[in-house]
Parts: sequence; C-alpha cells; structure tokens
Amino acid sequence: GEHNLVAFVKDIMAAFERIASKHKIDFQLIAPEPEIMVWFDATMLDKVIFNLLSNAFKFTPDKGRVYLYIKTIAPDQVQITVEDNGIGMTESEVAHVFEVFYQAENSYKTLGTGLGLALSKELISLHKGTISVRSQPNKETAFTIELPLGNKHFQDEELRTEQVEDFAMVQNFEL
Ligand code: ATP
Ligand code: MG
Repeated sequence: GEHNLVAFVKDIMAAFERIASKHKIDFQLIAPEPEIMVWFDATMLDKVIFNLLSNAFKFTPDKGRVYLYIKTIAPDQVQITVEDNGIGMTESEVAHVFEVFYQAENSYKTLGTGLGLALSKELISLHKGTISVRSQPNKETAFTIELPLGNKHFQDEELRTEQVEDFAMVQNFEL
C-alpha cells in the first residue's frame, strides 16, 4: 500500500533510541519534507531499514554517529541513506557485502549471519528500487536506497496483494 515513508522510518528509529543513548551515539533523522508518500510493502521495508540501522549500530563505536537521510531526488524518486562513522569496510569487502552469508573480516561475526544485506537487496529489487554502498575503513559507511514514487512501475497483481508479505522467502528469515 501507500505509506508516509518519513513517519514509517521514524517508527523504526524509535526502536534504536535506547541503544543510541546507552552508547552515546549521535542518532538523527534528516528529512526536510515531513511527508513523502511511497508505495511499498511495510513488512519488507521494515526488514531492510531495521537491518541497515542494526548494522550501523553494530559497527559504530561509542560516541559515534548514525544519521538517516530521506529526501526526494527527482519528481519520481526518493532516496534513503543510512550513514555511520564506524569501522567501515575496505574496497574488497564492499564488493561482497550484498552476497549471502558474507561478513567482512573485521565484523563481529557472532552478531548475525550475513543474510541481512542479501535479503535487503532482493526486497528492494521487488520494489523496482536500488541499494548501494560506499565506505572507507575507520571513517564511514553509507548505504543508499532509491525507490520510485507512484505505483506505475508495479503490475496490477503486485498492487492487489498488499501481501507479498506471505512470500516464504520473507517468512524464513529473522533479521
Ligand atoms: P545479519 O544481518 O544476517 O544479522 P550481518 O549484519 O553480519 O548479519 P549483513 O547485514 O548482510 O549481515 O552485513 C554483512 C556484513 O557487511 C557485516 O557482517 C559487516 O561485515 C559488513 N557491514 C554491514 N554494514 C556495515 C556497516 N555499517 N559498517 C561496517 N561494516 C558493515
Ligand atoms: Mg545485518
């Protein structure tokens, strides 16, 4: 269905407020527009945003920063960026980051399975969007999602089913 992306993301961010203050992380939403209506599957996008935030907090030391930006970048396109100034990744790590089970050498491998970003890429592609990353070791990491606005890019079947939620793929993963 159609949702206010800004309010949707704010709700997910609320779940991270406690960990942010515990670790003195500067945690902010930068969204100049209060309302951006976007067609998406809420169960899927929740998993994507939740994983990006949980990665940012996992790989950012105390007193760091995690910023989430949302803005329209064209009449028909919205951009979401999750940026942190944590441990970052090398160029060769970045090259593998969307692969199933991939975890970088410097990651805390016990904290996860390396599925979050591989699943996120699939979920964003079901929305005809893109997800990309740039990173520098010990400096910063930024994941950027771009989603089309409106619903012309979806097939009628996709719009009828608010419900791709029932995809076995989604049900079988716990992020
Ligand atoms: P899961 O999400 O399945 O619980 P995970 O977080 O390890 O496990 P992904 O979310 O797919 O898996 O991330 C893959 C790897 O990419 C991470 O293990 C880490 O090495 C690297 N990575 C992801 N986000 C960041 C980040 N913000 N900073 C540094 N490295 C990151
Ligand atoms: Mg993860």
